[in-house]
Amino acid sequence: MHPFEFSRPKDAAGAIASAAQSKTAQQGADVRFVAGGTTLIDLMKLNVETPSRLIDVNRLPFDEIETTPDSGLKIGATVRNSDLAHHPAVQRDYAVLSQAILSGASAQLRNMATTAGNLLQRTRCVYFRDTAMPCNKREPGSGCPAITGSNRTLAILGTSEHCIATNPSDMCVAMAALEATIHVQGSKGSRAIPIGEFHLLPGSTPNRETVLEPGDLITHVTLPRPIAGSKQVYLKLRDRASYEFALASAAIVMTIAGGKVTLARIALGGVGTKPWRSLEAEAALVGRSADAVNFRKAAEAAMRNAKPQSENRFKIELAKRCVAHALQMATTS
Ligand SMILES: Cc1cc2nc3c(=O)[nH]c(=O)nc-3n(C[C@H](O)[C@H](O)[C@H](O)COP(=O)(O)OP(=O)(O)OC[C@H]3O[C@@H](n4cnc5c(N)ncnc54)[C@H](O)[C@@H]3O)c2cc1C
Ligand code: SF4
Repeated sequence: MHPFEFSRPKDAAGAIASAAQSKTAQQGADVRFVAGGTTLIDLMKLNVETPSRLIDVNRLPFDEIETTPDSGLKIGATVRNSDLAHHPAVQRDYAVLSQAILSGASAQLRNMATTAGNLLQRTRCVYFRDTAMPCNKREPGSGCPAITGSNRTLAILGTSEHCIATNPSDMCVAMAALEATIHVQGSKGSRAIPIGEFHLLPGSTPNRETVLEPGDLITHVTLPRPIAGSKQVYLKLRDRASYEFALASAAIVMTIAGGKVTLARIALGGVGTKPWRSLEAEAALVGRSADAVNFRKAAEAAMRNAKPQSENRFKIELAKRCVAHALQMATTS
């Protein structure tokens, strides 16, 4: 591992000022915040991340879950994934989020992993994690061996000729369906970023994964007020039942009245280069009967623009079945 300096500031202003000295907040950042460390330290051991300074954010006052004045939920950046998944308000009003978090990693990892760290976890593409290989995300312009190589687990939505890496997070998929907002404090002030605008498509700059700039510190995430009577499900399909990333997953938030779907929020994991909200699937469903035929039509719409690679064509049908089955499960949730 590269040598690095370590600091543990007691206030956000100090942390932001230190991190603002970094040239970038993206791949190659020379200053990094560290929270649970379950992504960052892993990548530092592989020399994929080589920051010269680490700023520990664990002492900052961002570890609370509170109700907001408009009856939504405010989730601090350092709230552990396990505390979030087991919080009574989350289990009652945002069950899809609790289910998504509990489907990920292991109990030990969830006890360390934080809200902000999960938002910023990195792809599991094997070439990204192997510094002996080229990779446009790690070293811009070096090439993407995954396109002609091992791509079974990689993305079929939002890809480019420069990168087809999957965003691996489960939590972010549920947050996309819940229309979460990410709150950031930086050297130029605070801003609120809808989750759909937080992660970037790879395009020609896969090394840029989010809209974060040097010094930007995630302070908290807010969820809008709960949708009364909503049915919520997170369904994750993977190679083994635990400790595994999604091949395809679906987060559903849906309301039904008189047998018809009155609201649908559908997001997918394991198939997109970012947590993937499918407005196409939602449009195909709202106003229709809540039945298997329409659930399948919504699933087809979600995959209309899918672009498979040599090893992951199977994901198209897998993701369709995942969406359709999750919608069916939601009707009885
Ligand atoms: C073996 C294994 C299996 C896993 N399986 C799954 C799975 O099935 N599903 C799943 O979703 N995830 C899975 N994960 C990923 C895990 O959820 C993430 O590693 C974790 O959520 C990252 O959180 P952290 O607090 O440890 O982040 P860290 O490693 O501390 O940080 C990650 C990134 O976030 C940045 N950061 C942290 N806090 C802030 C902040 N407040 N503001 C700005 N930047 C910040 C850091 O600089 C770093 O770049 C797995 C991980 C491992 C190791
Ligand atoms: S898919 Fe992306 S992360 Fe994987 S090798 Fe290609 S450029 Fe790198």
